[in-house]
Amino acid sequence: MKWVAVYFSAIFFPAMALAGGAVGRTLVFPEETANTYVEMVPQKSMTMRAFTLCMRVATELKGEREVILFAYRTRYFDELNVWRELDGRLSFALSGEAAIFRVPEDLGALETHLCVVWDSSSGQSQLYVNGKKSLMKIYKKNHTVQSGGKVILGQDPDSYMGEFDANQSFTGEISDVNMWDYVLSPRLIQDLSEGKAVPRGNVFDWETVELKLNGNVHLVTYEL
Ligand code: CA
Ligand code: CA
Repeated sequence: MKWVAVYFSAIFFPAMALAGGAVGRTLVFPEETANTYVEMVPQKSMTMRAFTLCMRVATELKGEREVILFAYRTRYFDELNVWRELDGRLSFALSGEAAIFRVPEDLGALETHLCVVWDSSSGQSQLYVNGKKSLMKIYKKNHTVQSGGKVILGQDPDSYMGEFDANQSFTGEISDVNMWDYVLSPRLIQDLSEGKAVPRGNVFDWETVELKLNGNVHLVTYEL
């Protein structure tokens, strides 16, 4: 429903600008579908030897199925996927087997701040949940994330770009999706989780990234 984005950007942004307040925006996926997704247009090359990917996420889906949280698909590979697994664990996968993390805090209806950190030279891989760091795993040392694909929220593509499965789709709310092509320090990630100002993402900056809405997803803006 593209008109939703047009409506809000046309009506709400000027109103907020006049009031002088900072504006936040969030994506609401109200129902399980096999066709609703949001494409995020990268603001620099996706060729990466390291990254930090953060988002705020809330869902009422219980542990009955896998839930896709972020998908970067190139022609033949799921280049970077972030999942909530069937058993509630969180994982990310770089074109192949996933690094899976058993974290004590489940994703739920209250907003969770989630970051995924990876560095090719050391294989350093870890999650941060609400600013708290998981154990470190060594994963995909010397791997390079390739450019030339598409990043979407809401669905897991199994081809370029299709074969969506409603049983893996995301429902709930996602915001503050930021990505850096380097590893952020634990202190910066904690500040991020608390909403303090830190450098904006250079691959994705949620304040300025172009979002292309498809299907039943709503872009809602609000005063910060
Ligand atoms: Ca799939
Ligand atoms: Ca897939």
